[in-house]
Amino acid sequence: MLLDHLEHKLHAIAAQDLTRVLRVAESVTAPRQTVRGADRRARELLMFCSNDYLGLAAHPALEDAMIEGVRLYGAGSGASHLISGHGLAHEQLERALAQWLSPHIPNAQALSFCTGYMANLGVLSALGDAEADIFSDELNHASLIDGTRLAKAQVKRYPHKDMVALQALLASSRAKVKLIVTDGVFSMDGDLAPLDELLALAEVHDAWLIVDDAHGLGVLGAQGRGTLAHFGLCSERLILIGTLGKAAGVAGAFVAAHPTITQYLLQAARTYIFTTASPPAVAHAVLKSLELMRSSEGDARRANLVRLQAQLRLGIERLLHDHPHLGWQLVPSDSPVQPLIIGENAATMQLAARLDAVGLRVPGIRPPTVPKGTARLRITLCATHTEADIDRLLQALREAAAEMS
Ligand SMILES: *Cc1c(COP(=O)(O)O)cnc(C)c1O
Repeated sequence: MLLDHLEHKLHAIAAQDLTRVLRVAESVTAPRQTVRGADRRARELLMFCSNDYLGLAAHPALEDAMIEGVRLYGAGSGASHLISGHGLAHEQLERALAQWLSPHIPNAQALSFCTGYMANLGVLSALGDAEADIFSDELNHASLIDGTRLAKAQVKRYPHKDMVALQALLASSRAKVKLIVTDGVFSMDGDLAPLDELLALAEVHDAWLIVDDAHGLGVLGAQGRGTLAHFGLCSERLILIGTLGKAAGVAGAFVAAHPTITQYLLQAARTYIFTTASPPAVAHAVLKSLELMRSSEGDARRANLVRLQAQLRLGIERLLHDHPHLGWQLVPSDSPVQPLIIGENAATMQLAARLDAVGLRVPGIRPPTVPKGTARLRITLCATHTEADIDRLLQALREAAAEMS
């Protein structure tokens, strides 16, 4: 009965061209990966899909730090943070993260989580109690949406970046606690939340601003301090959620906020309390990553990303100019997430398959991850891409556009 039921649902997913497929890569470090097809032959793919924006995941200094961390602290943590799993490396990392972000959140404390998904569930369910209202951008990441579902608070979604609508919702709220929650850089569009305006609204309405900076941290702002630095913000009302598996190149996440908030999360965030702490070696490696992100090497990698973004955008804009009837659209984006909207699911997946056939891995993203009719290629760039890599992608897109015209 269950199997029939699931078979039926799987068919329905397939009928809408929405089946997700898992592929095994022998190495996943950007921007190249080796995959083996059904014929067992190895193929090298040039990736435009990784969130390892600075290309740090395969950095020799980080690999060494991870190995050193294992030698120092063993392979696993053995228990949750509050039982016995909170190691010296976790503590050092939390202090370093808090200090790094202190220009934006005065007296910040940081608290480690195993993943960004868990941080978002933990923060929103703990802070969003029955006395709170949560104001959430409609394009927020799935993990924030799931967090609002776990919260006892009333959840009010506002249209993407619509400050007028948000202002009206805030003004009509009678809740004791008001929490505005937003991605810093939106994960499927690459655009930035207007954090300056959001913080101003938070101040006027006595609300708090929770920023999930999964795609901004390491990439934007001075020393890679992310979207808060990009906007030059500083306020005790800011609650930052950072992830450490993307630009930081390792794994994990953290919340940085006023000490009363992190102390409360330690008591109340269930995804912090009821899970095994991540291996201390991971925190040890992230400490090294933080050093790299803050350094002149980090600056050089960020500068390269900006050059590659400009090259890609210029090339795609020319292509769109030459093939206007295709109806493709390049989303305005100042981040390494550069989506090209194709529209239909099937056309998007055909295009992704064409690129794959010539050794380029660019994921097609379909509803429900993005709104209906806006299926897209989600092109992401890494600091370790070369100008020739971008040219190769542009050339392949031009050939596909000519054929699909
Ligand atoms: C990836 C992502 C997360 C989840 O972080 P993980 O550490 O991968 O679990 C949360 N928020 C946003 C916006 C993301 O893109």
